[in-house]
Amino acid sequence: MSQNPHVIIIGAGVSGIIAACNLISKGFRNVTILEAEDRIGGRIDSRRFNDGFIDFGAQWCSGQKGNSVYELCHTDFKFGSTGFYDTDGFVGLISNGSRVNKEMFQKLSLLRSKIEDMIDEMRESKGSIGDFFQQKYNEELESSEYDDVDNEMREMVEKLWETEVKANYAAKNWHDISANRYSQVVVCEGSQDLTWKTSGYKTLFDIIQKKYNVEEVLKDKILLNKKVDHVNWETDKIIIRTLDRTVYQADHLIVTIPLGALKINHKLLFTPMLPEKKIKAIENIEFGTLGKVFLEFEEPFWNKFNNSFKICAFLWKKEDLYEIMGTDKEWLTNIYGFLHLDGFPYILETLLGGNKMHEFETFSDEKIENDCIWLLEKFMKVRILRPIAMRRTRWLTRENFHGSYSYCSMTTAAKDVYPEDLKETVFNKNGKPTLLFAGEATSSKFQGYVHGALDTGKEAADKLIEYFEDQKEQ
Ligand SMILES: Cc1cc2nc3c(=O)[nH]c(=O)nc-3n(C[C@H](O)[C@H](O)[C@H](O)COP(=O)(O)OP(=O)(O)OC[C@H]3O[C@@H](n4cnc5c(N)ncnc54)[C@H](O)[C@@H]3O)c2cc1C
Repeated sequence: MSQNPHVIIIGAGVSGIIAACNLISKGFRNVTILEAEDRIGGRIDSRRFNDGFIDFGAQWCSGQKGNSVYELCHTDFKFGSTGFYDTDGFVGLISNGSRVNKEMFQKLSLLRSKIEDMIDEMRESKGSIGDFFQQKYNEELESSEYDDVDNEMREMVEKLWETEVKANYAAKNWHDISANRYSQVVVCEGSQDLTWKTSGYKTLFDIIQKKYNVEEVLKDKILLNKKVDHVNWETDKIIIRTLDRTVYQADHLIVTIPLGALKINHKLLFTPMLPEKKIKAIENIEFGTLGKVFLEFEEPFWNKFNNSFKICAFLWKKEDLYEIMGTDKEWLTNIYGFLHLDGFPYILETLLGGNKMHEFETFSDEKIENDCIWLLEKFMKVRILRPIAMRRTRWLTRENFHGSYSYCSMTTAAKDVYPEDLKETVFNKNGKPTLLFAGEATSSKFQGYVHGALDTGKEAADKLIEYFEDQKEQ
C-alpha cells in the first residue's frame, strides 16, 4: 500500500484475525490487533483436557455448503461428527428412570423437523419461536396419526424442545426469540455437527494463517493484554487508549468487541458517541449465555450399565419438575441431556441456556459436579462414581464477553433493529470510513456462528481494501 494507513483492529477473535490476514495479504503492512485477553481466539477457546483440547466456546462447524469455515478448512482437516442425528446413538430418559419409546420419540422428532421447516409461516409470524412451536405442535397433534401419544408425553417432549432451543440460542426463554428473525438465520446445507475431534476449534487459526500465508508476520501484529478503554474518533487520526494507558493512533479502526461487552461499555468507550442507529442496535439486539460442563470419568459407566448412548436426553415428569423448581437445583432443568465428546471416550458434556445462567456461573465447581451426578443418577437409575475431573464455563461473568452470542429477540424485532445496523460503517466528517464493525452479532445470515464472524471480518477488511483502491483511481 503506497499510503500505508494504520489500521487497528480491536479483538483477536476470528473476525479480527481474518480481517488482519485479509489486509496483510493485500499489502497493508501497518496493521495492529489490540486484544484484551492474554490469548487469541475470543469465543474460540480450546483448552487442554484429558489427552486433547475441549472447547469452552465454539465447538461445531454447522453445515458445509456456504459455510466459510468448512470451505476454508475441509481440505486441510478431516472433520469428525458428534452424531446428533444418529438415532441408534440416542436415548431418551425419563425422570422416573424409565426410557422413552424410541419409535414414539422418532415420530415426534420428525414432527419437530416438519415444524422447523415451516420457514415461510415463521417469516410471517409476529410472535416468538416458542409461540410458533407450541401452536403448530398442538395443531399437528390433533391428527389421528398421534393418537398413541398421551398428554404426558406431549408435554415432556415440548419441554425438551424448549430446553434445546434455549441452549441453541443461548436464550433465557424461547418466548423471547423472534420467530420471524429465527427464520432469517441461514442453515448451511450439509452436516450440522462437524467436530474438530481432539484438536479443538483453535485449529481454525492455524489453517487461516497458512491459507493467507501470514504465519511469519501475523504474530508480531497482535498485542495481547491490551484492553481498549477509550476511542476518540473526532479527528482524522483516531486516538485509541488501552487500560495500561498506552495511546495508539490509527487511520481506520475495526471494532470486533462482542456485543455483550459493547452493551456495557459503548457509552464510555467512544467519543463522540456512536450514531443513534448503532446505539439502538447495540441496546436492542440480545446477547445470551450458553453454559457447558465437561465430566471426565475413570470409565464409561454408561456402557457398563447398558445405558450406552451418544446422546441422552432428559424428559421431566411434571411431579419431578415441580419438586426441584425454586430450589438451588432448578438450573438442572435447563439441561437437555449429555453427549459424548467426539474423540474422548471418558468424557460427557452438557450444554445449557435458560434463565439460571447467573446462578450457574456463581455456583462452586463442587456444587456443579454434585448436581450433575445427582441428575445423571436420577435419570439413569444407577450409582455413579465421582468424576476424576470437571470443567465448566463462565461466559456471562467474563468481562470481555458478558455472554456467549447474540440473537434477535422479540424486542429486537419490535424496535425494527437488524444485525446490519450494527455492522454499518461509521464515516467521519471528512467522509472517511473510520469505524468499521465486524463480529458474529453483525451477521444477519449467520448470526451467532463462527462462519458469521469470519465472513463479517473479511468483509470489513474488503471495505477498506476497496476504499483504498477507489482512492488510488481518483
Ligand atoms: C459457549 C459458546 C458456544 C458456541 N458454540 C458455537 C458452535 O458450536 N458453532 C459456532 O459456529 N459458533 C459457536 N459459538 C459462537 C462463536 O464462538 C462466535 O460466533 C465467534 O467465535 C465470535 O467471533 P468474533 O470474532 O465475533 O468475537 P470474539 O471471538 O468474541 O472476539 C472478540 C475479541 O474481542 C476482545 N475484546 C473485548 N473487549 C475488548 C476491548 N475493550 N479491547 C480489546 N479487546 C477486546 C475479546 O477478548 C475477544 O477476544 C459459540 C460461542 C460460545 C461462547
